[in-house]
Amino acid sequence: MDYYSSHISKLIEEFAKLPGIGAKSAGRLAFHVINMPLEQAKSLADAIVDAKSNVRYCKNCQTLTDRDYCPICESTKRNHKVIMVVEQTRDMAAYERTGKFDGVYHVLHGAISPMLGIGPNDIRLKELIERLRGDVEEVIVATNSSVEGEATAVYISKLIKPTGIKVSRIASGVPVGGDLEYIDEITLLRALEGRTEL
Ligand code: ZN
Repeated sequence: MDYYSSHISKLIEEFAKLPGIGAKSAGRLAFHVINMPLEQAKSLADAIVDAKSNVRYCKNCQTLTDRDYCPICESTKRNHKVIMVVEQTRDMAAYERTGKFDGVYHVLHGAISPMLGIGPNDIRLKELIERLRGDVEEVIVATNSSVEGEATAVYISKLIKPTGIKVSRIASGVPVGGDLEYIDEITLLRALEGRTEL
């Protein structure tokens, strides 16, 4: 039985599709939106459509950006010979907040997970290998310390080793299973400084 108008039900249904949103939260969000002034609801809807239509992958590092090349890849102040590999754009944002890393990034958009059927071709690894043809001195693997993150790090190091480029892994100061996004800046810096060669 549908207790609500079909419009409300549809909105609840859409919210429930988002990660981490259960039926209860979906209902709460839907009613919050219904109670918003129309202008605010429109601005939320516009922000979603705007982001979706304007955000794309940087042609170099694959991060989400609204230009062909992101500001970091375009910057002449960054050391383009040092590439830090992260799983998500938000991990890159976490390192950027420390303001202490002057290299560039590569965003994989995921990690290898045989359990979930995610293989090397399902993340942006080919693009990384492509970049290594340029002038690169070091690749710092900063994937999460989860099983998937570790598997990805091993895979990447095996791939890069034969090229003679230095491959290092951030220190395990990052808690196991820890999402880089939620780790404080000091821990991130320690992990970066204490990196070891793979
Ligand atoms: Zn970029």
